[in-house]
Amino acid sequence: MISNVTATKTHGADFDAIVVGGGFGGLYAVHKLRNEQGLHVKAYDNASDVGGTWHWNRYPGALSDTESFCYRFSFDKELLDQGSWQSRYLTQPEILEYLNGVADRFDLRSSYQFNTKIVSTRFDEATGLWHVLTDKGESASAKYLITGLGLLSAINKPLFAGIDKYRGEVYHTGAWPEGADLSGKRVGIIGTGSTGVQVIIALAPVVQHLTVFQRSAQYVVPIGNWPEDTETIDNYKANYDAIWQQIKGSQVAFGFAESTTSGLEVSEAERDRVFEEAWQRGGGFRFMFETFTDVATSHDVNASAANFIKRKIAKIVKDPEIARKLMPGDLYAKRPLCATDYYGVYNRKNVSLADVKEDPITEFTANGVRLASGIEHELDVVIFATGFDAVDGNYTKIDIHGRGGVTIREKWADGPLGYLGMMEADFPNMFMILGPNGPFTNLPPSLESQVDWIAEAIATMEADGRSTIEPTQAAEDEWVETCRTIANMTLFPKAESWIFGANIPGKKNAVMFYLGGLGNYRDALQAVRESGYDSMIFDREAVLT
Ligand code: FAD
Ligand code: NAP
Repeated sequence: MISNVTATKTHGADFDAIVVGGGFGGLYAVHKLRNEQGLHVKAYDNASDVGGTWHWNRYPGALSDTESFCYRFSFDKELLDQGSWQSRYLTQPEILEYLNGVADRFDLRSSYQFNTKIVSTRFDEATGLWHVLTDKGESASAKYLITGLGLLSAINKPLFAGIDKYRGEVYHTGAWPEGADLSGKRVGIIGTGSTGVQVIIALAPVVQHLTVFQRSAQYVVPIGNWPEDTETIDNYKANYDAIWQQIKGSQVAFGFAESTTSGLEVSEAERDRVFEEAWQRGGGFRFMFETFTDVATSHDVNASAANFIKRKIAKIVKDPEIARKLMPGDLYAKRPLCATDYYGVYNRKNVSLADVKEDPITEFTANGVRLASGIEHELDVVIFATGFDAVDGNYTKIDIHGRGGVTIREKWADGPLGYLGMMEADFPNMFMILGPNGPFTNLPPSLESQVDWIAEAIATMEADGRSTIEPTQAAEDEWVETCRTIANMTLFPKAESWIFGANIPGKKNAVMFYLGGLGNYRDALQAVRESGYDSMIFDREAVLT
C-alpha cells in the first residue's frame, strides 16, 4: 500500500510529520506514517540517498554481524519472502541494495529531500508545532518530529597534532570515499573495534604494507561466515513467524535462544567445551550469550571466556611478542566482536602491529605517524577506524529547543537521557528512533518495535484530537533509573567503550542503553499502551518563558 499524501491534516503546519534520517529507522517511519496512516510527511537526510549506516560505511570488508535472516525488517511478509542472500552474513552492498529495494517498494524516496542537513529544530509552544531549519536556510513546520539520526553515525575523528602537515590520504571508515584504491600502498589503520577488525582483514592481502595502530587489544571470535544455499534460505522463510516471534521475545534479538545455564554450575572443562563449540559455530553475540547465561554478569565466567580466547590467540599468532600485544587485559564486556581469522592476519609478513597504549601516537608528520618513542611510520594512507560519538552524537550537533527554550544539549549536559529510548520530557511530539536508553540488541527488530509504538501513539493522538504528548519527568527518571540498575547488574559498565560514552574524550560517562532485552522492552512498551499512556501528559499548557 503506497499513498503519497499531499494534504496536511494539521492546521497551520507545512506537514503533519517531519522525519530526519534515511536509514532503517527513518525509512520505516515514513512508510508507517505516510503509507499506513495517511499523514503528510516530509523527510530529510544529509546523505545523497537512502541507507544511513550502509550508505556511509562503504569501507572494504564492511559486513553485518547479525545473521542475514534477521538483519532485515519483519513487518512485511512479502518482503521477507522475496528476500535472498548469499552468505550467513550480509555485506554492505547487499544491505544497501536491500534498503534501496525497500525504498522503491514503498515509494519512500518521494518524501525525502537528500543532501540536506537539519541544523536546528524548535518547538513553538504557542502553536504546538515543530519548526526545522536546514543547512540550506529552508524551514518547515510539522506537528510531529521523528528523528532517526542513527546511534552509530556521528563519526569520531580524534584530533592528532600535525595532521594538517601530513601529505598522504586520510580516510574515516564512516565516511568512506567512493572508489578509494589502496592496492600496493603503505597503509596505516588507527582503531581495532568491529570496524577496524573488518578493514584490517580485508586490506591485509591487498596493500603493500599494513600498520595497525592498536590502543586496546580486543577479544575477537570467529564470525563463521559461509555460503547459505536456497534450501537453508527457504527454511528460514517457511519458519518466519516462529523465528520473529522468538526474536521479539528474546534478549539480544540475534535469532538464537540465549543460554539459561550458568557457567558457575559446570566444570571448567565443560565451559571450555561449550566455548569451543561456540568458537566453531561463529558469531560474537552467540559466543557471549548462547554459551552461558552469565558471561556478561559473572566475573568468573567472564574470565573463563576471556582466558579461552587468549589461549586461542597464543595458539594462532606465531610471534609470541605480537601475541602478547594482542592479548586484551580488560574484561570481555564490550559489544562482542567477530571476524574471519582476525588474529591470523598478524602472521602475515606485510602486517605490523604498533601498540599505541605502550607507545602512543604523538603526531602526524609530513610522511606518516610518529610515536612517543620517536619511531616514525611512513604511510601513503591513514585510515581512521576510530568509531562514533555514539547515541547522542548527532543530536547534540543540532540546536534542538523544547518547551521554554530548553535545549537538548542543556538537558543532556551530564549524559543523554531518554524515556523508553524514544521521548524526552519537555520535548513534546518529538520521537527518537534508537534514542538514549533504548534496547541494546540486533537493531532492526528494536527500531521496528519503536516505530510501531510511535505510530500507534500518533494514531491515538489523532483519533482523540490531542495536540501534544510528552512523558512526565517522573516517568523518564524512573526509566533511566531502571536502565542504570540493569546495567549495574552486568560487567558492561566496567569496560571502557562507546556503550557508555567512554570512547570520546571529555564525554560524560552515562548509561545510554536498556540492557534488559528486547522481550522485556516490548513488554514495557505494551504496558504504556495498555495503561492508556498514563506516563504521558497530553495537551500540557505552555510553559513559555
Ligand atoms: P542510521 O542508519 O545511522 O541512519 C541515520 C541517518 O540520519 C544517516 O543517513 C545520517 O546521514 C542522517 N542524519 C543524521 N543527522 C542528520 C541531520 N542533522 N540532518 C539530516 N540527516 C541526518 N547493527 C546491528 O544490529 N547489526 C549489525 O550487524 C550492525 N552492523 C553495523 C556495522 C557498521 C559498520 C555500523 C557503523 C553499524 C552497524 N550496526 C549494526 C548498527 C546500525 O547503525 C543499525 O543497525 C542501523 O543501521 C541503524 O539505523 P538508523 O536508521 O537508526 O540509523
Ligand atoms: P569502536 O568500537 O569505538 O572502535 C574504535 C577504535 O578506535 C578502538 O579500537 C579505539 O581504541 C580506537 N581509537 C579511538 N580513538 C583513538 C585514538 N585517539 N588513538 C588510538 N586509537 C583510538 O568503533 P567501531 O569499530 O567503528 O565500532 C562501533 C560499533 O559499530 C560497533 O561496536 C558495532 O556496534 C558497530 N559495527 C558493527 C560491525 C559489525 O560487525 N557488524 C562493524 C563495524 C561497526 P580504544 O578501544 O582504546 O578506545
